Amino acid sequence: MGAIKCIGILTSGGDAPGMNAAIRAVTRAAIYNGLLVKGIYRGYKGLVTDEITEFKSQNVSNIIQLGGTILKTARCKEFTTPEGRQAAYENMKKEGIDALIIIGGDGSLTGARIFAQEFDVPCIGLPGTIDNDLYGTDTTIGYDTALNTILEAVDKIRDTATSHERLFFVEVMGRDAGFLALNGAIASGAEAAIIPEISTEVDQLEELIKNGFRKSKNSSIVIVAESELTGGAMHYAERVKNEYPEYDVRVTILGHVQRGGSPTAHDRILASRLGAAAIDALMEGQRNVMIGIENDEVVYVPFTKAIKNEKPINKELLNIVRELSI
Ligand code: ADP
Repeated sequence: MGAIKCIGILTSGGDAPGMNAAIRAVTRAAIYNGLLVKGIYRGYKGLVTDEITEFKSQNVSNIIQLGGTILKTARCKEFTTPEGRQAAYENMKKEGIDALIIIGGDGSLTGARIFAQEFDVPCIGLPGTIDNDLYGTDTTIGYDTALNTILEAVDKIRDTATSHERLFFVEVMGRDAGFLALNGAIASGAEAAIIPEISTEVDQLEELIKNGFRKSKNSSIVIVAESELTGGAMHYAERVKNEYPEYDVRVTILGHVQRGGSPTAHDRILASRLGAAAIDALMEGQRNVMIGIENDEVVYVPFTKAIKNEKPINKELLNIVRELSI
């Protein structure tokens, strides 16, 4: 570890609320431990094009409450090529950066794993994604905030759905993972969740709608995870409209509103703990691990494990949605 004097920090891929809290935590924990910190702009792009500045403690003042990322984020094609990564490595050396902290999702950690292997650069990852789809951590930075944004929206949709006695299909993000849809459905009291992990047929929906909507309910809300596997909210709405023209069906696609906003207390605390733990991990000589949280304990998850394994969804939760929507 003696060799590490300066770290570089970047946010990459899809943005998530709480990334700023993580930048703050990493920066301050590093300075506290006598390290120099360099902020790298626009994810791997800034490493390839040398958009790098020194970060002092003041650079991260007053950002814990801000959504988005002050370092900006980007998707960087060059970094997926050996030439691009070579340029990134040369800039790293030029800037005197000895180790990297990467805040991002699956793709960003995949890039980190490849880069670390090619150039023997110590890399530590923080799980930053609203989708919660990284293996080895109970939750990811941004997930709780996005979930709360979904609730706020669905509560409002419920008001209008009830007034008009309508059936709403609400599409949420998730990138082939149903965590936002399933837990969003439980927390908002939705009648059903359609997630990529489990196929749902229209006749199953019909049964559910018949049980609730026709007998006792005057509105129904179905949360659908955006995914090629589900086909999205529009797909289900069209099918239900065609097969059951008696229903007054509407679709709301929540979209990018789910990425924004001030992070919740949960995400700020998570980002602060994981950020500080990233520096502890480096000081302990850890390399090429993602910092996760399991049963309220910080854990180190090798990149290969975090990336390759699919995070299982608790399918029992679908039964809860079903049971509680009668
Ligand atoms: P996320 O981190 O949110 O999953 P992406 O999948 O878009 O987002 O990945 C972010 C960036 O990580 C990409 O733009 C690219 O620069 C880098 N990256 C992703 N996959 C690879 C790969 N296989 N090799 C090198 N870099 C990669």
